[in-house]
Amino acid sequence: MERHVDVLMVGAGISGIGAAYHLQKHCPGRSYVILEGRPRLGGTWDLFQYPGIRSDSDMYTLGYSFRPWTHPKAIADGPAILAYLRDTAEAYGIDRKIEYGRRVERAAWSSEHARWTVDVLEVETDTRTRYTCNFLFVCAGYYDYESGHTPEIPGLERFAGRVVHPQHWTKDVDYDGKRVVVIGSGATAVTLVPELAKRAAHVTMLQRSPTYVVSIPARDVVADWLREHLPARPPMRSRGGRTCCSAWRSTTTAAASPSTRRAG
Ligand SMILES: Cc1cc2nc3c(=O)[nH]c(=O)nc-3n(C[C@H](O)[C@H](O)[C@H](O)COP(=O)(O)OP(=O)(O)OC[C@H]3O[C@@H](n4cnc5c(N)ncnc54)[C@H](O)[C@@H]3O)c2cc1C
Repeated sequence: MERHVDVLMVGAGISGIGAAYHLQKHCPGRSYVILEGRPRLGGTWDLFQYPGIRSDSDMYTLGYSFRPWTHPKAIADGPAILAYLRDTAEAYGIDRKIEYGRRVERAAWSSEHARWTVDVLEVETDTRTRYTCNFLFVCAGYYDYESGHTPEIPGLERFAGRVVHPQHWTKDVDYDGKRVVVIGSGATAVTLVPELAKRAAHVTMLQRSPTYVVSIPARDVVADWLREHLPARPPMRSRGGRTCCSAWRSTTTAAASPSTRRAG
């Protein structure tokens, strides 16, 4: 059976949730659905479980303009980002538009009918369904969820210890008192090394080419000051010559709640 929606989105990560918000706001008459291949939303922030996982950018940049990041830490840890995504999806009813366990396998455009035909695998039942849509919005991220980039390392099969890819880190990875080598020097390694060093006997970062890193505090003092002294959103805006105060009202409501007092 075929199901038609105006807009079909693929992926319920930070992009899909953001896209859904803007679609609802600017095109409220359009029907849409988000197909998510995994059983939960959040994408990257749900998938990665390695110790110390956090954002590389400050959350004022990575977060949504329509839902300012209010946590004190500008560089946030993974669980806080995931909670932010879940709350955002729930606050705007986007969670009700997500269909989980539906992996998009194929999409074909028909100029004659001006629509996409999208083949979808229902992961749990291993059955296929078909959607049609006028607009296909692919928010599927940029890496392979099944197997992250794994370079071939000759001789690795002779290594007697455990080899772990950060994308497949599970809670049972035990590195207490062990000697650990982290291969690579990018953002993941920079996050992992100090965290592993807390419990491992020794940690070595193995790098082919150096990465230059500037150490800055997770809290942004300028943002902290601005949050203390400015409202979450501009207090007044002009619409067609008339000034309206709705944004100010939502700001004062936010300021009344202790958990959102520091809205950025
Ligand atoms: C540890 C880590 C830290 C990062 N930190 C930052 C940062 O600080 N700043 C920054 O800008 N970026 C950062 N990134 C990059 C980050 O992945 C992106 O910025 C952002 O999370 C991507 O969001 P997304 O929604 O586009 O994709 P994803 O988070 O990858 O979400 C894509 C979603 O689409 C689903 N999907 C994929 N294919 C299909 C399919 N065929 N059918 C159905 N569903 C599908 C996936 O299951 C997933 O839920 C980081 C990445 C990692 C791994």
